Amino acid sequence: MYTTGYYKEPGPKLDEDSPFKSMMERFRFAANILELDEGMFQYLASPVKQVIVSIPVVMDSGEIEVFEGYRVIHDNVLGPSKGGIRYAPDVNLEEVKALASWMTWKCAIVNVPFGGAKGGVRCDPTRLSKGELERLTRRYTSNMLEVFGPDRDIPAPDMNTNEQVMAWIMDTYSMNAHKTETAVVTGKPLILGGSQGRKEATGRGVVTVTLAALNKKGMLPNKCTVAVQGFGNVGSVSAELMYEQGAKVIAISDLSGGYYNKDGIDIPKAKEYAQNNNNLLEGYSKAEKISNEELLQLECDILIPAAKEDQIGRHNAGNIQARIIAEGANGPVTANADSILEDKGIMVIPDILANAGGVTVSYFEWVQDRQGYFWTEERVNRRLNRMMRDAFDNLFKVSEEHDITLRQAAYVYGINKVATTLKMRGIYG
Ligand code: NAD
Repeated sequence: MYTTGYYKEPGPKLDEDSPFKSMMERFRFAANILELDEGMFQYLASPVKQVIVSIPVVMDSGEIEVFEGYRVIHDNVLGPSKGGIRYAPDVNLEEVKALASWMTWKCAIVNVPFGGAKGGVRCDPTRLSKGELERLTRRYTSNMLEVFGPDRDIPAPDMNTNEQVMAWIMDTYSMNAHKTETAVVTGKPLILGGSQGRKEATGRGVVTVTLAALNKKGMLPNKCTVAVQGFGNVGSVSAELMYEQGAKVIAISDLSGGYYNKDGIDIPKAKEYAQNNNNLLEGYSKAEKISNEELLQLECDILIPAAKEDQIGRHNAGNIQARIIAEGANGPVTANADSILEDKGIMVIPDILANAGGVTVSYFEWVQDRQGYFWTEERVNRRLNRMMRDAFDNLFKVSEEHDITLRQAAYVYGINKVATTLKMRGIYG
């Protein structure tokens, strides 16, 4: 019987839509443009470290369950590696490897001095008590003491992990280091050395690059319609900031389905509704109920998929009607869909640029922790906006130079930066 714990199943088949396969396809395309030699290609395609640990936890029942945890450091050429930790029943090494390499290119694109990493624990967090979650987190951290460190590898929240989980990681690491080491993890509560603006950073970054894209297309935000898939951290902040820009947000969605109103949805009110309704839009009555699939295919100017990976693939890419897609989620468009969207003339702002606001403010948090000096929210947002705009401009230039899409430009820019740094550092040994 399936339990929340460890079970030895083979990893997933690398089907045509797996995030790892999508990542490798795009990586190969960029490597060809850059004429990377075979050795460099192999170096950058392979993670530098893959750690699998087993995590025994004494459950509330008194029984022991053993979970499996992962941490993959894809690369640490630009600096210590950085990336989130997710808790989910289907987490596996292949997925973590793809997410870790996306972090490498993402950090390179926004010019933060980090390499890429990702971690995960295979568990069903909805079935764990708070005490079980804490014991699982502390044992996972303890098994990773040789991996984590403010100068080595710095975790952050991802799916189903939050500020509290980061606080436990920070405390466990600090207890073993015999000193408080706040910079070992980001996405912490403010009171423990977190940063102003971190929670909203990813959605804010999505909107900054969307506005930059509108500008290139000569479009005005207050003349645009927007559809947003996912109404969690990234989706709700993106929707709210677009709404503040005067855009008409005609559809939003979450696990409970989609909600459409051609006259526009009052996003602050919808947010308040969800907050009072277990963070779900279920029952929201100021809009017509549609499915998530219908939302993706709505006629609109801007589509922001901000829920999960593999939402737009070969099966539905031909039906997308948006003019711009800003990827709030990681991997919402599969590699198979890239050319279909390109042929339709849709501008895709790729995830490794669009959602990089999160890691950018994580970098600010790490800097503030190390300085012991904390910035105002205004300073955080100003610097975030500048870095996201610069990143957009850099990629736009590369896309024009090579006559390629923004996604291809993102890979070319990111891979080129890491490869150039690696060549200067040389291969040790
Ligand atoms: P979240 O858990 O806060 O929100 C996820 C939202 O998506 C929820 O509203 C949920 O109901 C909805 N959802 C889940 N499955 C869905 C489905 N099948 N169809 C429609 N809606 C669905 O998560 P988040 O932090 O907003 O992250 C969303 C995405 O953005 C993920 O891909 C994540 O990796 C990526 N991302 C997040 C951050 C960050 O800082 N939070 C940074 C970079 C990338």
